Amino acid sequence: MRQRATRDQQRLDSGAVSSPKDLENLQREIASLAKRQGDLEDIVLEVMERRESAQERVAELTERVGAVQGKIDDATARRGAAFEELDGEAASVTKEREVIAASVPADLLKLYEKLREQQGGVGAAKLYQRTCQGCRQELAITELSEIRKAAPDTVVRCENCRRILVRTSESGL
Ligand SMILES: [Zn+2]
Repeated sequence: MRQRATRDQQRLDSGAVSSPKDLENLQREIASLAKRQGDLEDIVLEVMERRESAQERVAELTERVGAVQGKIDDATARRGAAFEELDGEAASVTKEREVIAASVPADLLKLYEKLREQQGGVGAAKLYQRTCQGCRQELAITELSEIRKAAPDTVVRCENCRRILVRTSESGL
């Protein structure tokens, strides 16, 4: 297009075109070509601007993806560490339980295991201020006096939930 405009201009300047009508046509064509060139330059400029803003957006999103990935990596590492800690804790509690279970008479252990199965994982409960901490029921006066009379090594149980009751100085007896 630019070549055509140059050629038109050269023809105009050379004086080869003499008829006024041809001259007018040529001038009109030159003007129209100049306008089209201007329009095209505007479009090119707009496309360049849009490309630039798209590149900025790409850079911004890439940065955000990187930040999110960093957070994921961090959380994954912390989760791994937490699992490791829990595994260690579970192993030590299991071992501790084995040691304690070995010191408990077999029949009592059997009773405890049976109750634990029946009572959602808790086979023994503390007697605290006359209340069974397993079922949260306060014991009847008669039951409390029975427990008071029982020898320290007698296995006493909650009248309500049947769990083994563990007596302490806070039992309220
Ligand atoms: Zn109870």
